Amino acid sequence: MLRSHTCGELHLGHVGTPVHLSGWVQRSRDLGGMTFVDLRDRYGITQLVFNMDTRPDLCAQARRLGREFVISVRGSVAERSNKNLRIPTGEIEILVEELQVLNASKVPPFTIEDETDGGDDLRMKYRYLDLRRALVRNNLMLRHRMAIATRNYLNQEGFIEVETPVLIKSTPEGARDFVVPSRMNPGEFYALPQSPQTFKQLLMVSGFDKYFQIVKCFRDEDLRADRQPEFTQIDCEMAFVDQDDILSTFEGLARHLFRQVKGVEIGDFPRMTYAEAMRRFGSDKPDLRFGMEFTELTPLTRGKDFKVFDEAALVVGICAPGCAEYTRKQLDELTDFVRRPQIGAKGLVYVRCQADDTFKSSVDKFYTEEDLRNWAATSGARAGDLLLILAGEPNPTRKALNELRLEMGNRLGLRDRESFAPLWVIDFPLLEWDEDTRRFYAMHHPFTSPRREDIPLLDTDPAQVRANAYDLVINGVEIGGGSIRIHDRDLQKRMFSILGFTDEDAQAQFGFLMNAFEYGAPPHGGVAFGFDRWCALFGGADSIRDFIAFPKNNAGRDVMIDSPAPISQEQLDELSIGIRRSSSNG
Ligand code: ASP
Repeated sequence: MLRSHTCGELHLGHVGTPVHLSGWVQRSRDLGGMTFVDLRDRYGITQLVFNMDTRPDLCAQARRLGREFVISVRGSVAERSNKNLRIPTGEIEILVEELQVLNASKVPPFTIEDETDGGDDLRMKYRYLDLRRALVRNNLMLRHRMAIATRNYLNQEGFIEVETPVLIKSTPEGARDFVVPSRMNPGEFYALPQSPQTFKQLLMVSGFDKYFQIVKCFRDEDLRADRQPEFTQIDCEMAFVDQDDILSTFEGLARHLFRQVKGVEIGDFPRMTYAEAMRRFGSDKPDLRFGMEFTELTPLTRGKDFKVFDEAALVVGICAPGCAEYTRKQLDELTDFVRRPQIGAKGLVYVRCQADDTFKSSVDKFYTEEDLRNWAATSGARAGDLLLILAGEPNPTRKALNELRLEMGNRLGLRDRESFAPLWVIDFPLLEWDEDTRRFYAMHHPFTSPRREDIPLLDTDPAQVRANAYDLVINGVEIGGGSIRIHDRDLQKRMFSILGFTDEDAQAQFGFLMNAFEYGAPPHGGVAFGFDRWCALFGGADSIRDFIAFPKNNAGRDVMIDSPAPISQEQLDELSIGIRRSSSNG
């Protein structure tokens, strides 16, 4: 070994010990008779001292070291006179007796510090340097601890990790597939899995009982801050279970991860139906770290000649605690916020519930003080609070108010990253109607079982059928979701027909699964968690990107290896892909 210790472990107890350390030069400082070098490795930073009086040769050598040079030193541990109590090794330093440069380094394109001067693009291009920064490294270490803790828990619960194939078949449901041409089967393509869904179900038919896999999944979607074309799921499936069994097993996983990785004992996991979540929060992933629940004011606002409210199918508000004194400017900001095209509200009505028990609103022309008092009482508003009210079509209005609620939560500091509020959202609708294509789509996926008591509605009113499906939501983030599956061939066939498949199409696409259901398929269900997202949540970040070692940028590119990239004409020909490459690019 080129070291006896790491750069993160020496302390006062080691004073006088001879040591051998290796690492990267973080920075160096010349102070006349002394040169100080901060030596960094994965474990921390240790200060090296070179003394001009005792070792002028070494000191001169140290002064020639550049940032990110790889060096190895021998010396002894000494107590520092100028202690830095912010780092674990801050009370000691190494009096260097021998210095060896293992490799020089060019000046890095950005500083390898927590507060780096490198922009996103540069950091991505030189990701291997970015990964030297403690911040990013810590994220990956958190990810590692999450993966180990997940495997430990599931192993202990009797789950078996099974790898499923990466070259599979494209299917029309769900997101867009990434496809891979097959050289040996000209004109035919594999697809990369969007999830191992059908394979894990087949494993249940095989009798594996409890399966999991920490697995890469691929979706060719437009990217957002929290999306990557390839991402990782904790994918799980169990046989002979009902919804309760699944929820309690994976509540166990969540508790275990909170305890092992965050040191947090988590309280209850409330269960809320989709309908209730939409009514109370306008969202199927409500952030329960704070209240500000919706109050419906429709009947109270009718018949006072305020056209906007009279014509609206829904008038709904939230009560922002302690915000009655918001300035004109703050209220204008909120109005602009809800009018943004992504949110789409036409306007915002406010009522100030003033300290002297009077009310002031943006609709004083239409409503009496008594009306406003009534709204406030219904909303549970108290003196000092501010009512914020939106009106319009129910779904878009609820969605817009959800955004406003989250915005108010941010403004009021109610969304603390170190507090955690999990819940299960259950009873999602099975189907979603799409006006453009005039057909139903499965809200979760076509293998999700309807709730048993709703099966008769499949024939009469499919839109009302509830799915035996559930999502785990933490702090307003969908961390995972799953369902009890259909395990009966006829019901699965019926489901495909409701989704607009002909029998032939269904057989061609999913015949393998429906055939398997004829050979003793046990009742089964499962769930998949977004592993990157869960890591980001635990790491206190919004974006998953810094929890992935080598992520893609917003255009789906890896700018470090410069991919995707053209391939040669020979490769294209070999794959029977009829693209002619122009001679200018090869
Ligand atoms: N395969 C599903 C998904 O990726 C999760 C599940 O139903 O288990 O969303």
